[in-house]
Amino acid sequence: MEKLSSQQIIETTEKYGAHNYKPKEVVFSQAGGVEVTNPEGRLFYDMLSAYSAHNFGHRHPEIIQALKDQLDLVTLSSRAFYNDMLGPWMKKLCDFTGKSMVLPMNTGTEAVETALKTARRWGNFVKKVPDGRQEIICCENNFHGRSISIISMSNDENAREGFGPFAPGFKSVPYGDYAALERAITPDTCAFLIEPIQGEAGVLIPPGGFMKKAYELCKKHNVLFIADEVQTGFARTGTMFACQHEGVEPDIYIFGKALGGGVLPISAVVANEDILGVFTPGSHGSTFGGNPLACAVSLKALEILERDDYPKQAKEKGEYFIKKLREIKNGDIIEIRGRGLLIGVEFKENAAPYVKKLIENGILAKETHDCTIRFAPPIIITYEQLDDACERIKKALE
Ligand SMILES: *Cc1c(COP(=O)(O)O)cnc(C)c1O
Repeated sequence: MEKLSSQQIIETTEKYGAHNYKPKEVVFSQAGGVEVTNPEGRLFYDMLSAYSAHNFGHRHPEIIQALKDQLDLVTLSSRAFYNDMLGPWMKKLCDFTGKSMVLPMNTGTEAVETALKTARRWGNFVKKVPDGRQEIICCENNFHGRSISIISMSNDENAREGFGPFAPGFKSVPYGDYAALERAITPDTCAFLIEPIQGEAGVLIPPGGFMKKAYELCKKHNVLFIADEVQTGFARTGTMFACQHEGVEPDIYIFGKALGGGVLPISAVVANEDILGVFTPGSHGSTFGGNPLACAVSLKALEILERDDYPKQAKEKGEYFIKKLREIKNGDIIEIRGRGLLIGVEFKENAAPYVKKLIENGILAKETHDCTIRFAPPIIITYEQLDDACERIKKALE
């Protein structure tokens, strides 16, 4: 195949691809660690990390080796049979979370769908809510994926327009509003679904103490507390899971993104048997869910996370990074907030012109919900790279 220029690649992509994304005009043709190279050989620092999927950096050598080794053994069994990687991987996830059961899927969206089905079935089987009346409470400005039932929980008009009719059974409360949550709970409420930090909404952190109080409220009313840790999980925010910032252990974890080591899609719902035990043969599934290739990659990723203490790395590097970002002088910046290496810089107005300048200076980032730029570099970023990146960010934003 002839080597195409960035411009040619962008034109082909736009010509043949549905326009459900509006990417920044940077073409990835090679990547390693924090660095991305375009077809012209220009280097960039990846400060978005595929929305936290790249906690380990691009092509972590040990993860790529685990992939190669597994490629020579077996890649897919389907769940019609057992494979020898799924069990050990699920055991590892249980060790990580202190839970007893895992339901494997592929994408974050599928894991959220699975958690919704879990909550509804648990509501019916265990809480004895009549089938068809189960309610799930979600939060305003959430992002949980793109399926019809998930966008039924969304209040983002872009994500919803023209896609009705929407699925019933969802109620939404303002993020971090305890009184509203309390008012929303009824005898039919099965679950409360929350992102411990809202990434897509602009790196929003709930008010201190909210998570803990919300969890206790859920316990009082026999409502499952479900944490969508697809973006925040596995060390990104400076703890293994973002719920730990408030000492909350959710009833159900939803994982995706970083779980695949930046290599393959793999997602999971993790909970105890009294909850995930509601699934019976035939009630749910996925052909590729729990495939040995993805499990081998994910198992290696989890081993590395633990061995190299990624939570500590994210915490310390995040504190260093945020301190440096706060030294930037720009009157348009309203707030810089974050936890670990999930940081949002909020501007008075649309931040797209600043993103353009960042990219010109070799920094890959993207605005979310117009006014906030999210910085989430791979956790393996070195202090030298952080210093260099901060110089470039300063140049772009001052
Ligand atoms: C990305 C994301 C999802 C959806 O994951 P996909 O793999 O894109 O389907 C769900 N929840 C949160 C919090 C996310 O950030």
